[in-house]
Amino acid sequence: MSKKGIIDPGHGGTDPGATGFGIREKDWCLRISLYQHKRLRELGADVDLTRDKDVTLDSVARTNKIRGKYDFCISNHWNAFNGKARGVETIYPIRVTDRFARNIANSLVNVSKLPLRRVFNRRNSAGTDWYFMHRLTGNVETIIIEYAFMDHRADHDWYLNDQNFYKAAESVVEEICKYIGIQYRGPKSSDQPKVDLPIVSGTLFRVQVGAFGKLENAERLQERLEAADIDTYLIQDQGLFKVQVGAYRKKENAEAQAKRVEAKGFDTFITTASGTPAHGTKDEPTQPAAVVTPSTSVSRSVNAGDKVILNNSANRYATGQTIPASVKNRTYTVMQTRPGQVLLQEIMSWVHVADVRLSSAASAIESGDRVTLNSNASRYATGEKIPASRKGQRYTVLQTRSGQVLLREILSWVHTRDVTKL
Ligand SMILES: [Zn+2]
Repeated sequence: MSKKGIIDPGHGGTDPGATGFGIREKDWCLRISLYQHKRLRELGADVDLTRDKDVTLDSVARTNKIRGKYDFCISNHWNAFNGKARGVETIYPIRVTDRFARNIANSLVNVSKLPLRRVFNRRNSAGTDWYFMHRLTGNVETIIIEYAFMDHRADHDWYLNDQNFYKAAESVVEEICKYIGIQYRGPKSSDQPKVDLPIVSGTLFRVQVGAFGKLENAERLQERLEAADIDTYLIQDQGLFKVQVGAYRKKENAEAQAKRVEAKGFDTFITTASGTPAHGTKDEPTQPAAVVTPSTSVSRSVNAGDKVILNNSANRYATGQTIPASVKNRTYTVMQTRPGQVLLQEIMSWVHVADVRLSSAASAIESGDRVTLNSNASRYATGEKIPASRKGQRYTVLQTRSGQVLLREILSWVHTRDVTKL
């Protein structure tokens, strides 16, 4: 009889795992696992799943489903670190050779061209496996796959493409077939499920009309669009000024907008790059809720880019989980707003607007405001070093986006925290 296995989508339920650019690890894990399970069954493999929906499984419940019942387990994960680490990792238990893990890693690297970070095992101080998935699954050959770092831009973007995503899934399916000794056949195109991922923040379909190296050219196009009653906004990305006419959560809405704009004689382009939305989405207009500014006791809106303090009295995230004490009473940047709630950038969590107060140190900066670039500012929002000669100078804010402002005189985006309003 051939070997019996189980696919384990990492995390789930109240445990989202890592987060990168608005995607939660648990969602990618479930998506890749459901696909691999379906494909392996079609190919005649005897495989099960530890979870087939978004449910919580703690280490005990999870490993109880595995230990003593299977020959192998594939535990699917994505890594996250500091936005700079990247690449594929597989981790195998200390009592087996690295062979299966190495084959999977090589295969993934082969299809993705992402860097191979390492194939390894890890012992704890007691001399047993460091990872509970190895330690608590007995004789099962459990391979943990870290498909890439979901908080690394290039790694993340590779998986954001559905074709790539399922290519990676398929490469593991093929290695499993080799491992258990059944014949592998490639998938039919209809095998790729259309699974919509819940988005925790700004992954959007943006409708773009043009991208320019020079601001004047971008503004000229904006003017033409505005004259044709089309609402526009400008973002600076990778050294270009991009004129966009909408950002949507749903592709159909973006396509409909593209059609409307094209009917007025403009060329459009839909870009699916994820990231921080420059503005509220058009199909879900942001409605900032009123809060009280501590300094003035005058109520005003919380907007993207604002600095807020999470109150000590805050109890639960907008999503229901308990807020740990360690994240309270700290200052955060508002990334997005929706009615009654704000998304805090540093912890990528929605909280109730009633649970935050505006940081008196940083009232919102709007375009047209005059600001000073702080002398302790270190880098532009785009990463380059700010020369000393530009610090301490006064500038006019041309545009704002979450946590960043565009300074007119030097046409550079800087972090809002690095400027002081005059
Ligand atoms: Zn994980």
